[in-house]
Amino acid sequence: MEDFVKEQARPEIFTLKPYIAGKPIEEVKRELGIDDIIKLASNENPLGASPQAIQAVKNSVHQMHLYPDSNCYYLKERLASIYDVDITSIIVGNGSDELLKLLAETFLNRGDEIIYAKPSFSEYEFVARIMGAECVEIPLRNFIYDLDAILNSITDKTKMIIICNPNNPTGTMVNASQLDSFMAKVPDKVLVVFDEAYCEFAESKDYISGLKYIKAGRNAVVLRTFSKIYGLASLRVGYGITKPAIAQAVEKVTEPFNVNSLAQVAALAALDDREHYQNTWEGNSRGKKYLYSEFEKMGLNYVPTEASFIFVDTARDCQEVFQSLLQLGIIIRSGSPFGYPTFIRVTVGTQAENKRFIWGLQKVLAL
Ligand SMILES: *Cc1c(COP(=O)(O)O)cnc(C)c1O
Repeated sequence: MEDFVKEQARPEIFTLKPYIAGKPIEEVKRELGIDDIIKLASNENPLGASPQAIQAVKNSVHQMHLYPDSNCYYLKERLASIYDVDITSIIVGNGSDELLKLLAETFLNRGDEIIYAKPSFSEYEFVARIMGAECVEIPLRNFIYDLDAILNSITDKTKMIIICNPNNPTGTMVNASQLDSFMAKVPDKVLVVFDEAYCEFAESKDYISGLKYIKAGRNAVVLRTFSKIYGLASLRVGYGITKPAIAQAVEKVTEPFNVNSLAQVAALAALDDREHYQNTWEGNSRGKKYLYSEFEKMGLNYVPTEASFIFVDTARDCQEVFQSLLQLGIIIRSGSPFGYPTFIRVTVGTQAENKRFIWGLQKVLAL
């Protein structure tokens, strides 16, 4: 590396690992010269964006020479009314990814400790390392967040705990009573961040949102996104619900125009589109049951999911499975970067996509 960068860049920069994104469809087209490709790698909405959101974007596209509302007023107002919280409790970000980064910038000093599970969402490590924080990664137990081990790892230096619920990449959740007893033991000086990117898909009656603890006055943040059930991944918009004082602190480090105006109008419209939401939910619920039954017929172990993807054991080198599926135009996610060398993570798609994935998987595993 050039001496200039080595000598002048912040040392934290050299601890960062590149983000491994799902392979884009266009890239696979270019590399393999095949046209008919399905992507079940990034938990994008198989039905596409909310039609009402698409219309809202069309209606306001000619306003794009204007800076957006830096306060996201209408979106915040709407979210505040949905969750019955004060508007000053809402933060909006360029994806919930940005909100994770802003939380890190607001709270993490060099040497502070942050606790989360492994494997979980890779952004946690990324945002913590940028700030020079120490990452304490607690292995999942039986694919589930191990809240007792997290409690046992809290030290004087612990600043933040991130609970991904349901967890990505396993789709598992921690339930209401587990969270209650966990929260009863977490010291108040530790900020608990609930990443609920997939909460809308949870079907278990024992699932609860961390919102309850915010309403009880705890130092906590709930993060949600428009990228998954609402199908707006490309527009980059997510939100958080927290105490007004925490929201105010986060806003201090937020860029003035972090959420573009098309994202704001689309998000607002998507919240009204109950039909798209319902169709997405039902398609996911049906799709996961179909995939479960096919996995069972094939004798494959899978982790029952509360999210929009399934973590399944192919009992083979998953890099090979990934490559072979790719040749068939099917993009999924390999379990290797998550530390599970025989697993893959597959997004629940449309029924046609699910069938094609199963066809491909059968073909690949028979090789
Ligand atoms: C997809 C995802 C997000 C965030 O998405 P944005 O597009 O940045 O809103 C956050 N957390 C988890 C666990 C995710 O899978």
